[in-house]
Amino acid sequence: MKPAPFDYACPDSVDEAVALLAGHPDAKVIAGGQSLMPMINFRVVRPGLLVDIGRLLELDFLRATSNGGVCIGALTRHRVLETSPLIAERFPVVSEAMRHVAHVAIRNRGTIGGSLSHADPAAELPMMAMLLDAHIVAHSPRGERGIAAGDFFLGSLTHALAEDEIVVRVELPGLRPETGWAFEEFARRAGDYAIAAVAVLLHVTDGRIDEARIAMMGVADTPIRRPEAEAVLIGRALDDDAVMKAAIAVACDGLTPNQDLQASPDYRRHLAAMLCERVFAAAWSRAMKGKA
Ligand SMILES: Cc1cc2nc3c(=O)[nH]c(=O)nc-3n(C[C@H](O)[C@H](O)[C@H](O)COP(=O)(O)OP(=O)(O)OC[C@H]3O[C@@H](n4cnc5c(N)ncnc54)[C@H](O)[C@@H]3O)c2cc1C
Repeated sequence: MKPAPFDYACPDSVDEAVALLAGHPDAKVIAGGQSLMPMINFRVVRPGLLVDIGRLLELDFLRATSNGGVCIGALTRHRVLETSPLIAERFPVVSEAMRHVAHVAIRNRGTIGGSLSHADPAAELPMMAMLLDAHIVAHSPRGERGIAAGDFFLGSLTHALAEDEIVVRVELPGLRPETGWAFEEFARRAGDYAIAAVAVLLHVTDGRIDEARIAMMGVADTPIRRPEAEAVLIGRALDDDAVMKAAIAVACDGLTPNQDLQASPDYRRHLAAMLCERVFAAAWSRAMKGKA
């Protein structure tokens, strides 16, 4: 199918881009085009104007921050995150998750700003943003504002950006040294969107967990954190089978996944529990490395 007619603009600055959005209520930003172009071709969306931010090279950067984290420009490609030594050193859980995003050709074009703004509940980067307490910075004609990842994803393909706002960068605060991590997903074929995925971070002091973060996707309309299960893990050791079972039960309690062509809600809940067991064991083992 061919897209409906649209006008095209290629601004030279972020200010020009957001002014175009503000002046055209039917405008849409295009970055890597990997999600938007199929939707335009299928006429699921019909923007009157495409604002191509691909030439805004000031949005294409990845740099270390003094708090042990990173700051990622919105135009940074998935493949850069996947292969970056800085990401591998500071956020190995992101390097691992990126390998599961589509195929290399798509990862070469897709951008972090596009993935977060597309807000697909089965996409890896929104889930990483939740896990890592990302701070998402948006720019509009009114200036900049920061949005916590927990406030950014409002529903399936729905985010907290105003119509004239674009994501300009994403800040990930640093993790404590020796944080154990794990990411596991299940998809029918390599490169497909996940049916379900779970990621976890654990920090252990004197054999007890003193920080836990659990994120899931594919089991709700948005990626989610499981704070009640995180609380269960605090002060415990995960080599205790009872603790493992209790944490999995709480993490999977009350999940309300959607029914779709890929999987039933029961199957997604089953996957979530199985993936929890794997990530808890792997993250615990990494957190305990050299400490036993
Ligand atoms: C076959 C296929 C398989 C895929 N599999 C996966 C997968 O397994 N996991 C996964 O995570 N993704 C997958 N994707 C999606 C891919 O990761 C996309 O690249 C990504 O979701 C969107 O990034 P983009 O830069 O291409 O955004 P675009 O397609 O250009 O834009 C997507 C949306 O975000 C908006 N937007 C873009 N940039 C900004 C910005 N800076 N600020 C505000 N709004 C913005 C656009 O207006 C649009 O609404 C797949 C895509 C395809 C085609």
